[in-house]
Amino acid sequence: MSDQHIHIHFVSMECYPCAKVGGLADVVGSLPKYLGQQGAEVAVFMPKYRMKWFEGKKFDYKHVSHFYLHQERIDYGVAEVLNSGLDFRLFVIDVPGKLDRDGVYAGSNGNFFGDEIQRHICFQRAYLNFIVNAEHTPDVVHCHDHHTGLIPFIMQHCDGYRSLASVPVVFTIHNERYQGAFPWTMHYLLPQFDSWKAGMMDWANLVNPLASAVKCAWKVTTVSPSYMEELKYNSMGLESLFNQESYKCQGILNGIDWDVWDPATDPYLDHKFVEDVDDYKEKNKLALLEGSQLDPSFPLVAFIGRFANEKGADLLPGIIEEAMRRDLQMNFVVLGTGDKWVEHQIGILAHHRPDRVAAMITYNEAVSHKIYAGADFLLMPSRVEPCGLNQMYAMRYGTIPIVHNLGGLKDSVSYFDGDNGTGLKFNSLDFYHIFEEFQRAIYLHGAKKLLTTARNNGMSADYSWVKSAGQYMDIYKTVTGR
Ligand code: ADP
Repeated sequence: MSDQHIHIHFVSMECYPCAKVGGLADVVGSLPKYLGQQGAEVAVFMPKYRMKWFEGKKFDYKHVSHFYLHQERIDYGVAEVLNSGLDFRLFVIDVPGKLDRDGVYAGSNGNFFGDEIQRHICFQRAYLNFIVNAEHTPDVVHCHDHHTGLIPFIMQHCDGYRSLASVPVVFTIHNERYQGAFPWTMHYLLPQFDSWKAGMMDWANLVNPLASAVKCAWKVTTVSPSYMEELKYNSMGLESLFNQESYKCQGILNGIDWDVWDPATDPYLDHKFVEDVDDYKEKNKLALLEGSQLDPSFPLVAFIGRFANEKGADLLPGIIEEAMRRDLQMNFVVLGTGDKWVEHQIGILAHHRPDRVAAMITYNEAVSHKIYAGADFLLMPSRVEPCGLNQMYAMRYGTIPIVHNLGGLKDSVSYFDGDNGTGLKFNSLDFYHIFEEFQRAIYLHGAKKLLTTARNNGMSADYSWVKSAGQYMDIYKTVTGR
């Protein structure tokens, strides 16, 4: 293209505010704006879901065609959303019957769709058909997570797409626990490929989209430097791959959308931050606890997130029970959905101890903002944490994170030593270490001056995208030779 901008396509299953399950959406919905400020022009490509955000939008179809998924004719369209209200161009991949669902990975009833392999392949093929037929190809295709992991292979080794082989592909791993692997017996879903290149899709005798992307992408990034290192010895069987490909891998810490997550302007907050952190925290805590039986004078520890093993959500009921058994002077507020056993246990705790535990077993963006503002501490007992955004939102909102010291939590939270630092961390995921930090939290909560310092440290630290966007720009420049 003739202008000075680097033209990037983000390809992702999620994008905030259109469709969000977790951090992937937050990143894809915010990074383009910050890249835009540094000389890139990003267009985001995502599925056209049958979800609320898409209602009433105007779609300008740029490409309408069909392909065959084995014997099934797939009609699809690629359209730009004209009235998205976003800071970047948004395109949707419209595949009726496959992508027009009422959820990203699972329906609104919580059940997974069961045809994710077909859905992801349709998404990737429709996107690639669009660019292979477009007048201009992007300077860089930036794929996010395993759902888009076959794109670099298809661009290089599949009939009908090899004209894209010289377009650089960057692949970002937001979560390596999900690799999208499927048996080779389903290879007929893929476009015709060079059979002697099949190894570039294979890992452990399966088609593994995540592994394939690591092999075929020009550059691979993860969402924090520590997580990148951890993948070399803990990555569900891909350890040797990450060691082998480490020359092209880089960890870049996520930032947060400074405008969306701003306690001074956040429309979800009953009391916005003006200048006195303690006053703002107290008012938001009272608003949050209104109608509950929780005593606001106790430290309030929050958990927000998916009830998933990697988040350590299964440990949560035990931790809360133990805190009550020890009669610790702290209360808990939990917001999340996921594992049914965890949902049930947390529900029971809230039912039996409404004086100590408040639980919302749901996904609610507004409530999450109110909790970040109203809680004193945010607990993250993650087993794996590629980056984690919750702790950054918490710190920006004056809530002190108590986190397992690994992955992105290690890179973004520094231990509060009474003067400097923004949070509390435990090095081992066991009661002994967690409760040691809980005791510190209770002490900190009672030592008002220290509490104010820790809150202010968190609120004034910089988690913005500016630095990280610069690192992505360096990668784009390297792969395009600009
Ligand atoms: P992951 O992407 O692994 O789930 P992240 O920490 O990267 O974890 O991002 C989680 C995002 O999802 C944050 O924006 C968090 O506030 C949000 N979130 C998770 N669960 C809920 C929920 N039940 N209600 C509202 N927001 C939620």
